Amino acid sequence: MPAYADMTTEELAAKRDELMREYEAIKAKGLALNMARGKPSSAQLDLSMPMLASVTTYEDCLAEDGTDCRNYGVLDGIPEAKRLMASMLDDDADHVIVFGSSSLNIMYDTMARCWSFGTLGHTPWSKLDEVKWLCPCPGYDRHFGVTEAFGFTMIPVTMTPDGPDMDEVERLVANDASVKGIWCVPKYSNPGGVTYSDEVVRRLAAMPCAAEDFRIFWDNAYGIHHLYDAPEQQDQLLDIRAACDEAGNPDRCFKFASTSKVTFPGAGISAMAASAANIADVKARMNPQVIGHDKLNQLRHVRFLRDAKGLAAHMSKHAAILRPKFELVDAKLTEALTEVGGCSWSKPRGGYFVSFDAPAGCAKRIVALAKDAGVTMTGAGATWPYKNDPADSNIRIAPSLPPVEELEATLDVFTCCVKLAYIEKLLRE
Ligand code: PMP
Repeated sequence: MPAYADMTTEELAAKRDELMREYEAIKAKGLALNMARGKPSSAQLDLSMPMLASVTTYEDCLAEDGTDCRNYGVLDGIPEAKRLMASMLDDDADHVIVFGSSSLNIMYDTMARCWSFGTLGHTPWSKLDEVKWLCPCPGYDRHFGVTEAFGFTMIPVTMTPDGPDMDEVERLVANDASVKGIWCVPKYSNPGGVTYSDEVVRRLAAMPCAAEDFRIFWDNAYGIHHLYDAPEQQDQLLDIRAACDEAGNPDRCFKFASTSKVTFPGAGISAMAASAANIADVKARMNPQVIGHDKLNQLRHVRFLRDAKGLAAHMSKHAAILRPKFELVDAKLTEALTEVGGCSWSKPRGGYFVSFDAPAGCAKRIVALAKDAGVTMTGAGATWPYKNDPADSNIRIAPSLPPVEELEATLDVFTCCVKLAYIEKLLRE
């Protein structure tokens, strides 16, 4: 079969009619499938059920320093939880604050502190005429939701296979003091699966910024979420805080992580790591806000996951469930779309997503066709600020939730919709 772009109008019209029959047959099945959000599957959630039974007696409720975790107190987390989260954040326990169940919540609050109070004595961002924020694209829709909620002007930055295009980033931050920060998902990025190269990490840490209070929001949500066990198949990420220290910009970064996709999303623990000055500043601002977070949950996580080794062993069980799904996505897309041409997609070694690039101008139509056929995808455009993908091309595929058989059916619908939308586009041109 020739690639669609090489077909004559007659061939394309015949192919469209054939695909339309296929599409109508799928529609008639009345499917209700979902590939929209990066949720762990039920089988993955089952892995952490023993954790719920790990803290039941009075003795279980005592932290290593004797704190009774049933009661109020301990603003920044019990020591053993700080150590556990430090291993996820690739940092030292004394640079860590353990929060509640959501890292997105910490990011929002961190932004809110910069907005209301300023960071480390700098002018509160709310007092400025404009705040601009760099958004590597495709990126995480909920990040863009946070910066949109504060009314920041979001500037898309091109993602390369090594991370954000640093020539672009350096140019944008060099002379404009209203550019206050950047979103980064530095390992197995959402959705591209990209891990930042050492050079990108070093340039982010060292680049001259017009804004003295420029901040890197380093959301290492997928830092330990490898799909493969062998170290040579896993991506390595340079530590941003060490790089910032080395470059003489120790306060530039806030690191975030959580156990949402380790144990239970919405019922895990989350944490931040940052310089000593930033940690002291954040703790001072937290003081009137909260007495302490859920220490029993911190204990449950420590008892169940123990340490870096325990975390790795647990994540390897997740990988065994997730790997076949990611391999199925690649196999199905390859089988259905390679000859068709015009499409590309990521082959991640970790994280939760496959980033799919359809021929320009097709993404919205593909997602709408899929919806009508009973398959819910992440909205087209969601991976861009203001939901505005200028090429109308990128679609985020989230294969984790459906069981394998369901995922297979979902991908059949998806590829049929991709082909149909592409042919419609070629026939219009
Ligand atoms: N950051 C990224 C990059 C994510 O993909 C997600 C969730 N899918 C989150 C943060 C949300 O994390 P949490 O549950 O800790 O709020």
